[in-house]
Amino acid sequence: MPSAPTSGQPYVSPWMDQDLTMFREAVARFVEGEMLPHDEHWRKQKNVGHEIWRKAGAQGLLCTDIPAEYGGAGGDFRHEAVIYEEMQRRGLVGFGQGVHSICAHYILNHGTEEQKQRFLPRMAQGELVGAIAMTEPGAGSDLQGVRTRAVKDGDDYLINGSKIFITNGYLAEIMIVVTKTDPAQGARGTSIFLVETPGLAGYRVGRILDKMGMQAQDTSELFFEDVRVPAANLLGGREGQGFYQLMSDLPYERLIVALGGVAAMEGGVQATKEYVRERKAFGKTISEFQNTKFKLAEIATQARIARVFVDRCIQDLLEGKLDTATASMAKYWITDTQQQVLDECVQLHGGYGYMNEYLVTRLFADARVQRIYGGTNEIMKELIARSLG
Ligand SMILES: Cc1cc2nc3c(=O)[nH]c(=O)nc-3n(C[C@H](O)[C@H](O)[C@H](O)COP(=O)(O)OP(=O)(O)OC[C@H]3O[C@@H](n4cnc5c(N)ncnc54)[C@H](O)[C@@H]3O)c2cc1C
Repeated sequence: MPSAPTSGQPYVSPWMDQDLTMFREAVARFVEGEMLPHDEHWRKQKNVGHEIWRKAGAQGLLCTDIPAEYGGAGGDFRHEAVIYEEMQRRGLVGFGQGVHSICAHYILNHGTEEQKQRFLPRMAQGELVGAIAMTEPGAGSDLQGVRTRAVKDGDDYLINGSKIFITNGYLAEIMIVVTKTDPAQGARGTSIFLVETPGLAGYRVGRILDKMGMQAQDTSELFFEDVRVPAANLLGGREGQGFYQLMSDLPYERLIVALGGVAAMEGGVQATKEYVRERKAFGKTISEFQNTKFKLAEIATQARIARVFVDRCIQDLLEGKLDTATASMAKYWITDTQQQVLDECVQLHGGYGYMNEYLVTRLFADARVQRIYGGTNEIMKELIARSLG
């Protein structure tokens, strides 16, 4: 029988290997050199600007799981995972890579060959920043309530309506826009358009919204007034496919949210471990109090359970087996746990934990929305409950 490992062995995700370790080092260098120094400025201006997107594209860090024939890096979800982890455990959430990748996957999975050739290489280069515009002022959880209309007009469609809370909305140059082509048909009357925004008449970006957290992320309102889009930009080339297209990509999206939650927890626990070793009260370091040890034990355990679950989901996704209910479990449970863990991290920092210059403070504020976007956690529970039969 092999001997039990000594305590404190670092956990390594089973999907990591030597190549990915080298890739992780390169990503960490990019994140620390090109992103971290600018984060403060990005938070103030409420967006990361286009330059970092072009740089990330030039480094091969965009669309890493898109096939090389469409300009991607030809890797798989593990490459994306490494990038999300390296950004999010450092509290870097302004660069909306997740949404960009989800947008690219809509095109990859549902686009015509011509659409894939036209958009994906430019997305991989960072020439086109991607966004997904589903939510409207009157339609969030219930996407059947979408009112943005697309009406056929010769070889084009005319789009009218508005969207809200759109991640990457201010910087986006290619957008997945959910519309109704036939309101009488309900879900079957939903169609998605690929809208290239630069110079587009009738298209307007409203405010960058003022949020509780994720300060460097450009979450925006969008307005469409007789926006003319060629029929060739209807995703997949057929009307009425929008709802099916939206549903089929959900496990991928939810896994990205869950993985971000795990990385944020790990970053928070690490920062808290370091802080309590330094900070003193009553003649001891904070780390010497039994309460601190127990709290650290609890949050490290919660983060580890979340990690093991998300790693399993990653492996399932790689094997094409990640189902909607399991991805919903990961999204709901991990983001709820993320909030609890980061709350403890803030508590162990005392008053400093309330100051925005501390990583745990930012992680805590950024965590709140994780339970809301990507489908609220209540909607996740609906989906899980349905799968229980
Ligand atoms: C920072 C941020 C970024 C976002 N990014 C994007 C983006 O890039 N693209 C995009 O399209 N959208 C985006 N969203 C929108 C987000 O997906 C929606 O806010 C979310 O889906 C909830 O919709 P809603 O805000 O309309 O809330 P509502 O649907 O009005 O929900 C309000 C409350 O009612 C609950 N509820 C609703 N239906 C049920 C039900 N059947 N059973 C039980 N409870 C229910 C909800 O869980 C919630 O607690 C973003 C939102 C934020 C805040």
